[in-house]
Formats: sequence, C-alpha cells, structure tokens
Amino acid sequence: MLNILHRVIQEVSQADNLERALSIIVKRVKEAMQVDVCSAYLCNEGQQRHILMATDGLNPKAVGHAGLMFGEGLVSLVAERAETVNLDNAPDHPRFHFLHGTDEQAFHAFMGAPIIHHRKVLGVLVVQQRARRKFEEDETAFLLTVAAQLAGAIAHAEVSGGIARLMTDFNDGVSLAGLPGSAGVGIGTGLVVYPPADLDAVPDRTVEDVEAEVEVFREAVSLAQADIRELQARLSTALSDEDQALFDAYLQMLGSTSMTDQVISRIRAGSWASGALRATIKEHVQVFENMDDPYMRERAEDVRDLGRRILRFIQKGRHKPPPYPERTVLVGDEITATMLAEAPVDRLVGVISAKGSTSSHVAILSRALGIPAVVGVKDLPVARLEGQPLIADGYNGRVYVAPSAHVRQEYERLAREEAQMTADLAELRELPAETPDGYRIPLYANTGLLSDITPSLLSGAEGIGLYRTEFPFMVRDRFPGEDEQFRIYRQVIESFAPRPVVMRTLDVGGDKALPYFPIKEDNPFLGWRGIRITLDHPELFLVQVRAMLRAGDGSDRLRILLPMISSISELDEALGLIRQGYDELLADGEEVARPQVGVMIEVPSLIYQIEAVAKRVDFVSIGSNDLTQYLLAVDRNNANVAELYDSLSPAVIMAIRQVIEGAARHQCPVSVCGEMAGDPRAVLVLLALGVDSLSMSASSLLRIKWVIRKVARARAQELLAAVLTMESAKDIRQYLDTALIEAGLGGLVRAGNK
Ligand code: PEP
Ligand code: MG
Repeated sequence: MLNILHRVIQEVSQADNLERALSIIVKRVKEAMQVDVCSAYLCNEGQQRHILMATDGLNPKAVGHAGLMFGEGLVSLVAERAETVNLDNAPDHPRFHFLHGTDEQAFHAFMGAPIIHHRKVLGVLVVQQRARRKFEEDETAFLLTVAAQLAGAIAHAEVSGGIARLMTDFNDGVSLAGLPGSAGVGIGTGLVVYPPADLDAVPDRTVEDVEAEVEVFREAVSLAQADIRELQARLSTALSDEDQALFDAYLQMLGSTSMTDQVISRIRAGSWASGALRATIKEHVQVFENMDDPYMRERAEDVRDLGRRILRFIQKGRHKPPPYPERTVLVGDEITATMLAEAPVDRLVGVISAKGSTSSHVAILSRALGIPAVVGVKDLPVARLEGQPLIADGYNGRVYVAPSAHVRQEYERLAREEAQMTADLAELRELPAETPDGYRIPLYANTGLLSDITPSLLSGAEGIGLYRTEFPFMVRDRFPGEDEQFRIYRQVIESFAPRPVVMRTLDVGGDKALPYFPIKEDNPFLGWRGIRITLDHPELFLVQVRAMLRAGDGSDRLRILLPMISSISELDEALGLIRQGYDELLADGEEVARPQVGVMIEVPSLIYQIEAVAKRVDFVSIGSNDLTQYLLAVDRNNANVAELYDSLSPAVIMAIRQVIEGAARHQCPVSVCGEMAGDPRAVLVLLALGVDSLSMSASSLLRIKWVIRKVARARAQELLAAVLTMESAKDIRQYLDTALIEAGLGGLVRAGNK
C-alpha cells in the first residue's frame, strides 16, 4: 500500500491542473482498493455546496455540475464530522441523499474520508461498491491516509491555484490567504524571482525570438555534455566501470533526441528555454517515478540532476533578468535579502513570498523599505504569476491575482487614502513622541542596509536603536575586512550625528545565512547562531568590534549590542573581548571611547537572570521576535505554525514585564527593538509597562508616534490592567484593536484610514 500511496502522491504533485490531479486520484484509488467507484468532492464556500469534481465509476457527465448542499447527504456528514464515515448500505442511512445525474443508485457500500488542510475541510474522498459490506480497517486507514496526504499535495502543488479559484468569492480573480508581512497596499505586475539552478522554481515566460532561444538551449546542452565528459575523465581511475556507466547514461539522455526535441518543440510553441526544460524534465521524471522497479525509480533523480545542469548553463548564457515592470510586485517561493536588495526600490510596490512569516527577515526588510508585503502564502502558484496583475494587501495578508475591476478600484481607493495618511503623518516628524499626559518615549529606527538610512532619517528617528550588521555581510561574497566594515559603520554613525547608534554584533545562523559560510543544522534556530558563532570565532568578533569602535571615533554615540546571549558566562566572555578590542586600539594610539554595551533579551533564560545581566551592562533591548519564538516554541519562519506565533500572547507580555521590573532594580534602561515596537497595539502595552525607548522600522515610526501622541499613558495603563487579566492573544489583540479604533486610530490596524 505504501508504494501505491507514494506513487499516487508523486503523480498528483506533477499534475499541472486541479482537474487532472483529481482524476488521477480517483482512478488510482479505485484500482488500489478494487472498488466500483471513487469520487472526489470539493467544498465551494461561495455556493455552499460540495461539488463532484472527479469520479471513476459514476456518470462522468455529472462532474463539475452535480453536488450536495452543505448539510445535505453523506458527503456533508463526512465534512461536518471531519472524520471517516463507513456504511455497508448507504441508502439505509437517514442522511442518505440520492445525487441526481450520477447513476449512483446501484451502489450500497459507502466510505467517505475528509480532505483536510490546516484544519479546513477542503473536500471529501468517497469510495462506493455495489455489494453491501463494511470496509475493513486497513481500507479505512488507506483512504484516510490518501486524503490526508493529498490535502497537502493538492494545496502545495501547482494545482493550488485551481483550488483557490474554486474557493474564492470573486468571479474573475483569485484571492489567496497569507500573513501580513509589511503594512500597506501594493498594486502592480508580478515578477517572479527564484534561486539559480532551481528547476522547480523556474516560472513560465514567453519569448519572441524563438530561434535564438532554441540556440540558447542547444548551446546549454552541448556545454552540459562537455562538462559531464570532463567529470567522467577526471573520475575515470577512481570509479569502477559500473559506476562510470552513470555518466554514459547521462550522456545518452543528453544525446537522445526524445528529450531535446520535446524541449525544442515547447520553445517553438513560445516558451522560454528554462520553462520548456522544466516542463520536459518534469514529464521524464514522472515516467521514471511511476516505474515499478525501485532501481528505475531512483533514476528520476538523475534526470532531475541533468535538468539542473542544463539549467545552470542556460542561466549562465542569459544576459539580463527580464526588466522590472514599472510597478513591480516581487513574487517568489522564498524571497531572500539579496533578491530584495537587487530590485530597484523605485519600481518595487509589493512583495509576495510563499514562505516566511511576520517576523522573518523578508518581512523585516520589506518594512524597512516601506514596501507592502504578504508572506507565508502557502498555496501561492509562484510559476504562474509572472506578468499577472497582482494586489498585495499587507494589512490583512491577502493576495489578489487578476483582481476584478471592482476589487481593484476598492484597493486603489484604499491606497489613495493611505498615501493621504502618510502625508498627514509627515507633519509629526519634528514633533516629540510624547503622550498627551506628558510621558516621553524616544523612538529609534532599525536599519541594516545603507539604503534605508535615508528613510530612517526622514522618519524623524532619534537615533538607530538596532543596526543589524549581518545585512552588509550577507550581500558580499566573503567576510568584509576591518577597514571595509569601518567605512560602512562610519557612514551610518556620521549620517545620524549627533544621535546615538546601537550596533549589533554579527547575528547570523537561524534563517540568516552567509553564502560563503554555510551552516547545515537540523535545528538552526536552536543551534549555532548569533553570539555562539562569534564567541567561537573571536577573530571575526574582534575585527568587528574594532571596526565599530574606530567608527565611533571617540564619541559617546556608539552602543554595542550582543545578540542571542543565553547565559551569563557568554555575556562575560563577550564583554571581555570588547574590552580587549578597546585596549588594543588604545595601545595602537587610536581615538576611541569606551562604548556603552547592551544585551538583547531574546532567549527566555535571561528573563530569569535579568538582574545578573542588568548589573553588568548599560542597557538591555528586548528582541521580541526571537523571544516570542523561543517562549512559545514556534518557529518564526514556519508558515505551518504561523498562527500560533503572536507577540501579544499573555506569556510574552508577562515576560516583558518581568524584564522591565528586574532591570529597573539596577537602573538599567530597557528598549524593545523587535517587530512588536512597530505594532500600534503592542505599543499601548509597552508604553504602560514602562519601556524606556522603542526601535522599529522607519516605515512604522510615524504611525507609532501618532499612537503615542494620541493616547495618554494613564489610558494605556487602564488598558494594560484589562490586558493582564486576559488569557489569549486573540482576546488581547481584539481588545487593543477596539481601543485604537475608539481613539480614532483605526487606520493603523486595517487597510484604509476609516
Ligand atoms: C528580535 O529577535 O526581535 C530581533 C530584533 O532580532 P532579529 O529579528 O534580527 O533576529
Ligand atoms: Mg533576534
């Protein structure tokens, strides 16, 4: 059974549309279970019906038409209960409802299994048989397993666009749910970005000059052939004849006209070479994967490898990426910092990423650049979005593909209102962040790229509260040297004179990789990250600290912040190294001042040792992104658990309270520099708890200043008292939303400024 299951899933994930995928499922399940009928029904919320989408055994003419209203028939019973229903004679059951047009009167035995994806019933898979009989336990388990596996495969495969189309309420567009990554509304045209030599990520594109494209492909094939021959020659003495046969097989495949001809005919039909290659390789992979012989099935990986090799050469020969549309919405499976950095900011209006969550770095960077973003769109049909009109609603975390005129007009109106709100907010720039009852709380900006220094300055930030030094490290192809780092840091510190700048030491690992320093770990967020790496590499740490101290140029404006500290011994070691760097520079005759040093509170162990920390340092800064992740045990980047990630959960609020109280006993100031500081709801809580400063992306700064200038601290404290009695993040969020709306700040928490 497992083998059959594996093959069905493989086949389904290769299908290029929903109808095809479902018809494969019903056919294969019917064969495997030796039943008379297998059918798939999908829920259509708009029509409130379960529609028959595929069948092998019932009248095929009913497909797409016949259906049962919600609440009607056995199919609905399965969906309502969200569990299997197994009956030896379906017509006897009180909920039985004969489905007209399907010719199902002949069948007695019935078993239905729900197709559930992320707690939502997407449909029902049904098997039926003429004879009266109860299905066996292993049959039930099989159907349930197929349904469970298929839910994921259906939702994740390319066919998911089809599901969304079925589920949407819009007539001529598709709307997909994701997570809000960066506030705002972006309306533009899709441009798909993808990592090099990743065959699955290649989008569909068309070409005008077909013959030139064929040439690009032929050239790539002959380069791949030469490459393999060279590999073969190099390994000829080390490999047995048998192992060498692999290379011969590769060369044979490359030489075979069947594959190259198929690619060329796809190119002649208008596809670009990379897209034609992707489709052809996919087909060949499928053939191998469907073979019964396990050895032959393994060959599918060889075909894939071959595809990647050719793709690499196509990409090498390709001159330029396609031009960015005037209003670009960047789309990708996983948009990286580099992809964002490469896009021209003046054309970028939105970002949509299938992976990621509210606090992943693509979201943080988008916020830094003030670009609306939707992340964690699990069912995003990336390959099909090139050139599509798209709307990214970064408030509600929704994406609209080919929106209807009505939806588009509505969003254009919201975008205009938002532009107006931004213009109004600009008037707050020179005003202090002070509550109506006179409580002042400095607002700083988070940065990491030189390009977001200007927006930070323009936002009226009173300094930099978090400079993420890893970004300049990420966009290079080696560790930057001391002088190179010095120049970058100097520029930041100079641009912000006379304001303070908090520079964080290198915080790589987790989801921030350096291309030239790969770290492979099963649990990267619990692994070699942040200070753990730099303490293991004091040579890197010292270079960075020296560069920072030199950039500080003897002024008292430089503050050094240590990330991912989880124990006092780590803190002492890091403080020792900073002292060493300082002493060395003094000995070298450099003009340096002893910097203020702070610690990020982002690992829960420090909540309980806050006094020991506060005694040793000049300030602490709460990294609420990681603190939430570690307190709640929810990976901040994992879209599957994103709904569990919430910095407004009572545990996080209590933890922050404890940090503030502990630090206060040692007169140690507390700042918050995680994304919480830029969330208007959370700011009400932080204000009441008594944080000393907030640091956020420049694009949030004026909004937060607006909140502070509108809501008295006494009112925030009333709200906090109520919040502290609540037991769920959802209640707290709702309560604070209402408070903001009542204060006339509703525009900050939903699209449009009503
Ligand atoms: C945090 O964890 O809250 C933080 C500010 O650091 P980063 O998001 O860079 O991990
Ligand atoms: Mg962090």
